[in-house]
Amino acid sequence: EVRVRFAPSPTGFLHLGGLRTALYNYIFAKKYGGTFILRLEDTDQNRLVPGAAESIEDMLEWAGIPPDESPRRGGPLGPYLQSQRLDLYSRIARELVERGHGYYCFCSPQRLDLLKREALRASQTPRYDNRCRHLRADQVQEKLAQGAPHVIRFRLEAGVEPFQDLIFGWNRHEVAQVEGDPVVIKADGFPTYHLANIVDDHYMNISHVLRGSEWLISTSKHLLMYRALGWQPPTFGHLPLLMNSDGSKLSKRQRDIFIENFCREGVLPEALLDITTNCGSGFTTSRMGRVLAELISEFNLSKITTHSALLDLEKLPEFNRIHLQQRIEDEQKCHVLIKELQQQIQQVYAAEIQDQEVLVDDYIRRVLHLRKGHITSLKELVSPTYSYLWVRPSFSDQQVALLTKEAPRIASLVLRLIEERGEELSVDRLSKDLKSLTKQTKATKHREVMKLLRLVLSGLQQGPSVAEMMVSLGPAEIRHRFQKLLL
Ligand code: GLU
Repeated sequence: EVRVRFAPSPTGFLHLGGLRTALYNYIFAKKYGGTFILRLEDTDQNRLVPGAAESIEDMLEWAGIPPDESPRRGGPLGPYLQSQRLDLYSRIARELVERGHGYYCFCSPQRLDLLKREALRASQTPRYDNRCRHLRADQVQEKLAQGAPHVIRFRLEAGVEPFQDLIFGWNRHEVAQVEGDPVVIKADGFPTYHLANIVDDHYMNISHVLRGSEWLISTSKHLLMYRALGWQPPTFGHLPLLMNSDGSKLSKRQRDIFIENFCREGVLPEALLDITTNCGSGFTTSRMGRVLAELISEFNLSKITTHSALLDLEKLPEFNRIHLQQRIEDEQKCHVLIKELQQQIQQVYAAEIQDQEVLVDDYIRRVLHLRKGHITSLKELVSPTYSYLWVRPSFSDQQVALLTKEAPRIASLVLRLIEERGEELSVDRLSKDLKSLTKQTKATKHREVMKLLRLVLSGLQQGPSVAEMMVSLGPAEIRHRFQKLLL
């Protein structure tokens, strides 16, 4: 049975790197009919960010990759919040001590600090010197009885524990040679990441650990702990890092990579899922426009390479454009877009709207279908470029006069054309009509006629084609806008 987990620490909000790790776990779970678990690793009580835990789960739901088991949803092997599992960790830590794999350490922070400074002075990597390993049982008992502050450390055995990573292949890492014995229970009674992480992976029956490659180096240590506890470890697969396209680190401090921001800015979750997988590996082919179901069916773990994935956020609007088009073409999703756009129109144009018809579903649906493939976000449609769709444009007689003296005549030709065409306008048909219309104007060239029509329809000098503007506005509104030129 496949059981995978995404295990962020709520010390910050969900960003693109985290979303990508969650997504690969989700895809892997769904591909193999497994379970996707969200576990919050909140053992570092000093670094908790208020609201982050809630927000991480909200954002997974928004992205369309909700966990099957989580703090909010619960599940058979919960709780899914590490701070609610403290008894379990202390029990396991005591077990490590009883089995001779762990020991109490009473070294003061001052001593540890001194060790660190000495090492740095000698240009060595600081490491604990394992002094408390050698305390006698009666010394330990005495200190404990006195209530001396202490931590519990894991005794790192010498030797390598080679393991095969699903993505990085064979790893041989002699931990005891480079590290001092790691703390598993801190002085405040909370576990460290290393202990809580493996205890939970074990008790939550995790079959595969798919996580960022920054944790690859810790895996040997984790495997030593599994062995000490006599547990069968899960299979590990470390995902290559997500980086900026120039190879620099995708910093969490870079404000614009937080999922909440994308959500607020109207980026579609499909576009985010697509861009984060498109720049990486794990798929037989590379193409834009994949939705979650396709990501699942086309996913192939053996295609994940060890190269970092280079993320080019400049391409995000393009991804959004493609996915917005897909939504517009799906009747149900389009309905939701219509409702969203209605709200935005009201917010932006509220008092200026002269004709409530612009808020009608059919009108907005027509606009969306005409503009799909061109717009990169829904918000674009309430920007000044498209204001002509919602409010009547203003322009001066002088602007008209500068273009042509024939304005009244052109207006009447347009009105006649609309009369002839009836209610159902089409862009192709109208473009042809407009070409023949300009043959009937005497002094004004096609270009000038088009400029005039554009001005009257939109008040602008550029935008969609004149024919498209006319089709979106519809006959009644075209009449309204041209009638005033007749006077
Ligand atoms: N809490 C760790 C993190 O924040 C989890 C690492 C893991 O998946 O083991 O990334």
